[in-house]
Order: sequence, then structure tokens, then C-alpha cells
Amino acid sequence: MKTIKPYTFGMGDRFGHQGEAQLKAVLEARGAGIDVYPTWNKSFREHSIVGTEPQSLREEADAAVAALGWNDDYYIDADHIRMETVGEFLRGSNFFTLDVADFVGDAPDGSALEDWLDSLNPYYKSLEIEGLEEPLVLSRDSAKAAGMQFFSAIQKAGELYRSIESSKSDSPFVTEVSIDETDQAQGPEEIFYLLSMMARERIPVQTVAPKFTGRFNKGVDYVGDLAQFEQEFHADLCIIQYAVKTFGLPERLKISVHSGSDKFSLYPIINRLIKQHGAGLHVKTAGTTWLEEVIGLARAGGEGLQIAKEIYAGGIDQFESLTAPYSTVIDIDQSKLPSVEVVNGWTSEEFVGALEHDLNNPSYNQHLRQLIHVAFKIAAKMGDRYTDALKANAEIIGKGVTHNLYERHMLPILG
Ligand SMILES: [Zn+2]
Repeated sequence: MKTIKPYTFGMGDRFGHQGEAQLKAVLEARGAGIDVYPTWNKSFREHSIVGTEPQSLREEADAAVAALGWNDDYYIDADHIRMETVGEFLRGSNFFTLDVADFVGDAPDGSALEDWLDSLNPYYKSLEIEGLEEPLVLSRDSAKAAGMQFFSAIQKAGELYRSIESSKSDSPFVTEVSIDETDQAQGPEEIFYLLSMMARERIPVQTVAPKFTGRFNKGVDYVGDLAQFEQEFHADLCIIQYAVKTFGLPERLKISVHSGSDKFSLYPIINRLIKQHGAGLHVKTAGTTWLEEVIGLARAGGEGLQIAKEIYAGGIDQFESLTAPYSTVIDIDQSKLPSVEVVNGWTSEEFVGALEHDLNNPSYNQHLRQLIHVAFKIAAKMGDRYTDALKANAEIIGKGVTHNLYERHMLPILG
């Protein structure tokens, strides 16, 4: 096991050109006294849409690290990986996010489930946990209900972990278990049961991504009840601490927030709670860097602005197919999307104003922003034309990428 640092920040980079700009944000944060470490994450889905190989992320990270003289830990996260897709990620990754959401709800093996239920006998009561106002109410019945949902999936996570372990026995890595891409948020009792299942599978889990209440739409702010989120996050921190002591899970086990980027209203809550608890944190952002590329291109004008407009037009044209895979993490009101004709007439300033996540700007359009978020396939299809534009406008884009990650994300979350 590679012991993870307390604060780690996940950065996604669909086209692989912003590694240095992203690392600069980490360096700025460190300059401001925030002890944060970079993680580059890219999922199988993103690799296949863009047409890149997993190893390219390792190469990008290594190059950025060398160019800026970073000489401390950094992580390459095989994000939302499954048994069928892990192969190509093995060589270059030192962080694996095991995604077994597909197996949630599968019927568990009866005798293994009974063994696990028996192992929890001492806990079937009203269990006081330090920091929690209300004790957890645990029972064989509620454990069984959680088992019917998750036991199979966590067993699959164990299998996947062991298969990675066997091919990387000489190079330690970080293991995350993600259960965020499920239909329902997990309550505190379920988190308790889930952690106990992971311990039983001997998964050295160091980051765990629960599903929280509310909508975590891509690239836009949180939609939901802030007070309830705060309660859940607080409860999860307390339960994790308890589970580390009780089940022997790794000391550094911490929450991983698959933020979908830009959850500005949650950041002060998360910041306050992790500081209060002395807890670590992993945050994943992905698409916010891609959106900064489009913003930078639009800001640059000329061919850059033209490309940004074509990405929007492609997004409108292929609306159904682009949005379908993201249905649970976007909410686009099509009536709020400007027509292609209107957008084609926009100046740089108008395009940037609509796309940039600046809540003080009345032109900001969260529907347009979400559509561009999922439209990276259009840019991928442009091939060299798109990546040449990234190179031609590297400076203006890079500035935006760094500023966005540092000022809007790292500073409010960890500062
Ligand atoms: Zn996720």
C-alpha cells in the first residue's frame, strides 16, 4: 500500500495539455501554505471518448512534474475502474478507484453474508460514536438490508483489488472504493456497514467516495439541502474515524468527493468540517479544466472563438447522444439554451460571459455550461485542429486553468 497524503486534489485533463497549468495551481496552493498533493485522474469512459490510452496520463503527469521540478508524491488515478477495463491502467497508475456500482443490488452469497452478519453481533444496538449527536441504530435486520444492496459489490471490489495487487506487488498504490454512482445516497448506518464489508474483504481502502444527498451536476454548483449535506458529511467523518479504530482500516482513510467540479456552495462546509475533525480529504474535479480550455479559446478570439462556437453547435446538434451517458449528473433545460445562430453572433466576451462559472455575471448560463461540459467528444472529433488551437493559445488557456483550480477550488476547500 502506498500511504496517501492527507490532502490530495484530483485533476482531470481530457486532452492532456494542461498538466503543467494544473500543477502550477498545486504549487500556488503550497505557496499559500496548503499542504496539497496532485492527482491526475481520467476514467475509461473519458479515455475512450477522447481516443487516448491510459498510459498517456502517466506520461503527461511525469512531464509536468519534471518541467516544474515537483519532487514529492503525486498520483495517477485509474478512475472508476472495473475488472474489464483495469488492464491498460495497471502499468502507469498508482491510485485505483474501484467502481462496482454495477453489482449493487446483486444477490449475495448466503453463507458469506451470514458470516459477516455474525461478525457484527457486538454492534447490534444503539452505538455511540464520538462526534455524533445521535447514536447509530444498528440491527441484524438493517445490516442484512445493507448486505442485500452492497455485499456482492464489495466482494467484487475485493476481487478487483486483489487482481491489481497481484500484478503490482512490487509497486505500492492507493485504493479508493467509489459508491457514488448509485441511485440513492448512503445514510450513516449504511456507511458503517460498507466500511465493515471493505475491512472484511481486506481492501486497504484509503479513500472512499460515498454518494451524498442532492445533485452533483457536472461543472455547476450543488443543488440540494446544504444543512443535510453538512450533517451527512459530518456523520461520515465520525464513522470513518470509528471504523479505522475498530475495523483496522488504514489510518489515512478519508472521504473522496467526486465533486463534478464547481460545488462552490459546499466548499466552505467541507473546509470547516475537515478542519474541525483534523480529517484528510480527496476531491476529484475533472471537467472544469476542459471548460477552461473552451473559455480560453473563446477569450482568444479568431480561430479559438470559432472552435468554441462549433463545439456549442455540435452540442446542440448531438444533444441526445452527448447527454444520455450523463443523465444522472446534468440538468439541462433546453429552453434556456440559446440558438446556434445567436451564439454564432457572439463576441469573445459574450461567449466567455455565458460559459464562465461566475455567479455575479448575469450572462452566466448554467445550461450552456453543462452542455459544453459533455460536448468534449465534438472537440475530440476535430483532432489536430482542436489540439493545435490548444497549443497556439497555451498561455491564455493555462492561466485560466491554474486560476480556476487554485482560486475557485483549492483555496476555498483546503485553504
Ligand atoms: Zn465518481
